[in-house]
Amino acid sequence: MSKTWIVSNRLPWTCARDAAGLPHLVRSPGGLVAAMLPVHQAGEASWVGHGGFPADTPGLADLLAGQRLIDVAIAPDIYAAFYNDAANGCLWPIFHYFPALARFDQAGWEAYRSVNQVFAAALLERIGPGDLVWIHDYQLMLLPQLLREALPDLRIGYFHHIPFPASEVFKLLPWREEIAEGLLGADLVGFHTLEYARHFASVAGRLMGLEVRGEDIHHGDRTVRTGAFPLGIDIHGIAEAVRSDRHRETLAELELTFSGRRLVLGVDRLDYTKGIRERLEAFALFLRTHPQARGDTVLLLLCVPSRIEVGPYSDLRQEIEQLVSRINGEYGTTANQPVHYLFQSRGLPELTALYRRADVCLVTPLRDGLNLVCKEYCAVREDLDGMLIISEFAGASEELGEALVVNPFATGEVAAAIHQALHMDPRERRARMSILRRRVLEADNRAWAGQFIAALDAVAAVNRQHASRRLENPAEAGELLARLDGAAQILVAIDGNAFAGRSAQRQELERLMAAVRGRFGDRCAILLISGAEADDAWLGKELWLAGEYGATLQPPGGPLAEQGAALGDLGSHHAEILRILGELERKVPRSRTIAGRATLTWTMGRTTSDMAKVMLNETRHAISLILERSAWFCAGIHRGLAVRCGSCGPARAIERVLAALPGGADATLLTIGDRFTDEAVFNLHRERNCSVAIATPATTADYLVADAHGLAGILIQPGVPS
Ligand code: UDP
Repeated sequence: MSKTWIVSNRLPWTCARDAAGLPHLVRSPGGLVAAMLPVHQAGEASWVGHGGFPADTPGLADLLAGQRLIDVAIAPDIYAAFYNDAANGCLWPIFHYFPALARFDQAGWEAYRSVNQVFAAALLERIGPGDLVWIHDYQLMLLPQLLREALPDLRIGYFHHIPFPASEVFKLLPWREEIAEGLLGADLVGFHTLEYARHFASVAGRLMGLEVRGEDIHHGDRTVRTGAFPLGIDIHGIAEAVRSDRHRETLAELELTFSGRRLVLGVDRLDYTKGIRERLEAFALFLRTHPQARGDTVLLLLCVPSRIEVGPYSDLRQEIEQLVSRINGEYGTTANQPVHYLFQSRGLPELTALYRRADVCLVTPLRDGLNLVCKEYCAVREDLDGMLIISEFAGASEELGEALVVNPFATGEVAAAIHQALHMDPRERRARMSILRRRVLEADNRAWAGQFIAALDAVAAVNRQHASRRLENPAEAGELLARLDGAAQILVAIDGNAFAGRSAQRQELERLMAAVRGRFGDRCAILLISGAEADDAWLGKELWLAGEYGATLQPPGGPLAEQGAALGDLGSHHAEILRILGELERKVPRSRTIAGRATLTWTMGRTTSDMAKVMLNETRHAISLILERSAWFCAGIHRGLAVRCGSCGPARAIERVLAALPGGADATLLTIGDRFTDEAVFNLHRERNCSVAIATPATTADYLVADAHGLAGILIQPGVPS
């Protein structure tokens, strides 16, 4: 029976002592806990995280077991370096587009790595194949790969609760490949918005050189899926809070305190990403430009203490408090203090009372993964009598378009939005809030968790299917060897382009050929298929050589023969395609077009530009349209395209070699290629074709293998299990 594990840096509960010194659990703050705790409580999953409990806490084991919590013990100095220096001193500012605040501290990074390893070890003591592990957030980005290496059959989901920046910003991280590799260990990497998912896919494509097809990233022989799963709020928890006595009491207090005044509300952890300074400046501008508001409008700023051990946070507190006092000094009246500032945390019953009383909720982060406060505000406004102002840089703004959406850096725009929200026609306000509220209530945190798990299961099933074809699996390798060892004659057809772009291309090919020859000796012939014209370097090696994807064929020691079609057969299309490729070559630096006897290829050189890839796809589409009714077509190749004739491809070259070989009519085929190999090769004479795809999950080949070394290693294995 497979189990489910929720994993996050901190456990959702911390331990406090009551008056008698007895321990009890207290809920940890933050959006992740708010969202996941009800999911945890409603299901059967165990939650694995660092509790930070004092070692001598009596009765702790029972407390934890009762709540299905597993505490990962971490030495305090390592934890401090991991949390303060790496996670919050470096990753947090980079992921929120504040590179100037990031400190790239190597010791902190090593602590980050070791904390991820401690988590992996703690999990591996407990989990088994087929279990589902749902990892949360940027503190544990190496964990997916650490678990994958140890237990390939796990279903691993990772959800990123903060923004994922554009690849140009992500690239600043000295440990960028390690992080990307770590995340790619998951089956599903989820984000709040499509933009973040796109940025991650761009890191996979541009930085890691992986093939990205829509939401799927091909990583070795696995598919890593990415996508948007905007987090929902805990509707049940909010409804319960609203029904509580504490909520009613707080609401009554607020009515009394702010009677006759209009309340603008801001609720955030005190964090430089939340735009609190800019919000105060905007509110000051609003008061300056609307003097009549000074006597009756209050900004209630609830700032929750956060990460006070991290440098920029304590400075920020000072700065905010000075600004509050400046605004109150300048715009206060004897009857009203315009900013009501609280540096504390409140429970949901009080928070929901604040939401209910606030005429406007002002959510203006400079960058925020999602932001739950804005959604909670809408959920509470069943009276429909409130207005939300939201930053376009909060992930939630993608879903909440009926709010007033502002650029938080544009002080004038925010000040104008405050005025607009306070003076909006009540019918318009109700209409907007009604849509916002419906949308928020429709997609709560439980629905979100359900959708994430369903998506994870779907991609994990695809990967399980890939896994069943993997040659790393001894049963599959044994089957392949049995099929080949029993054959009287074998033709091994290798798509040389599957090795293109790799520094050790030639050695890999030679090692593979040596393994083939060593195992099958005289029973085998080798055909090397290349996209380029036949390569002289391979002459004299007892190989059949197919050049230009099969347009030419040369037997071992024999003369070069052509298989028909030549570029001249393209007629008027030839010049037109050359013109299109020439234009593309001028636009993409260091790209080049090569005209062979029967193929035209264009490769994009070293550029990693997404734009070049878009241009490649568009060009491929344009050329395909030109060739629509002809025997020619435009194929994708590694980082480029090839125009060639459909009637003389690699499959035809294989047929010709089979016809020329003694015993070729019944020969067994071993076809080796990758995702760009013509699928006709893998599907030729299927019943006697052992087809192997290298480093890709996306082909119809019988077997998958992570790399050519792996395949060579299998071929040099001694016996065949009978
Ligand atoms: N919150 C709270 N008490 C407070 C202020 C906020 O419990 O005094 C909760 C709030 O209800 C919300 C979460 O903290 O669920 C904040 O999540 P959000 O995504 O807005 O910001 P984060 O702190 O995760 O960056």
